[in-house]
Amino acid sequence: GSSVAVLADNGQVFPCQLRRNQALPVVGDRVRWHLDKDQTGTVSEILPRRSLFARGDGHGKMKSIAANIDYILIVMAPPPVMSEYLIDRYLIAAELLNIKPMIVLNKADLLSAEDLEKVKQRLAQYEAIPYPVIFSSTKEPGGLDQLSAALKTYSAVLVGPSGVGKSSIIRALGENLDIRVAAVSPKGAGKHTTTATHLYPMASGGFLIDSPGVREFSLWPVSKKEVLGGFPEFKPFSQGCKFRDCAHLVEPGCQVIAAEVEGKISSKRRESYKELLKVMS
Ligand code: GDP
Repeated sequence: GSSVAVLADNGQVFPCQLRRNQALPVVGDRVRWHLDKDQTGTVSEILPRRSLFARGDGHGKMKSIAANIDYILIVMAPPPVMSEYLIDRYLIAAELLNIKPMIVLNKADLLSAEDLEKVKQRLAQYEAIPYPVIFSSTKEPGGLDQLSAALKTYSAVLVGPSGVGKSSIIRALGENLDIRVAAVSPKGAGKHTTTATHLYPMASGGFLIDSPGVREFSLWPVSKKEVLGGFPEFKPFSQGCKFRDCAHLVEPGCQVIAAEVEGKISSKRRESYKELLKVMS
């Protein structure tokens, strides 16, 4: 609406009005503001964003969801879901949004040593690209240490299928300050709290942002070129392809196919690429 919650440097939250005709801030925006009276304020300026998480609104336009995000945490868990195909879809989105992805394998506590080794091998192809891969558990002491260390003071959103532990990770790492954006909106008080975006500061100084718009997010229709952008490890090889417009499917002289045959590119990743080209274009 016309009102937002501003988290001040001293940790206090102030409801603030927006000026008429002002661009709308989204969660994670840094703003210039001043205090008026009655502990309320006015936002005068949105500071330049270093990133913007947006997604298709289903009508061919992009909808802004969160600003200044450093990482998209792609959360999977052995039960219920550990899918490379799904990871690859999120990776395309991360590359398109120009936000660094981090793959988080949660519920590591449920894996036997043998299964853990198998999952590590499956995820090794991502580390080779290189995308960071983190193992976590919200049920074991120290199970989130690796994730906290990687997040440091950065801001992150969590994406991934339902039931993998996103809420549990947020509960464990986020401090008990929960800003319900919709709750301070004059019209929506209370009404939209279940669909509101929440901002959780972490003890490390970073933020976790939880938004249904992000959680439910799936890849919007993208072009062939954009699909390819999600496979940066193909690039050193694709430059040597015989045809400039090589789609790396069946073309003679394709260096990406050659690299796969030589084991320099993961077959699983090229399989995803082929499947995504089919469904996206
Ligand atoms: P979300 O849908 O991704 O937000 O998942 P939730 O955080 O609601 O977690 C789904 C279920 O998995 C809950 O019953 C959690 O207690 C459980 N869970 C979350 N993290 C872990 C974990 O690291 N290990 C185990 N064993 N269970 C977990």
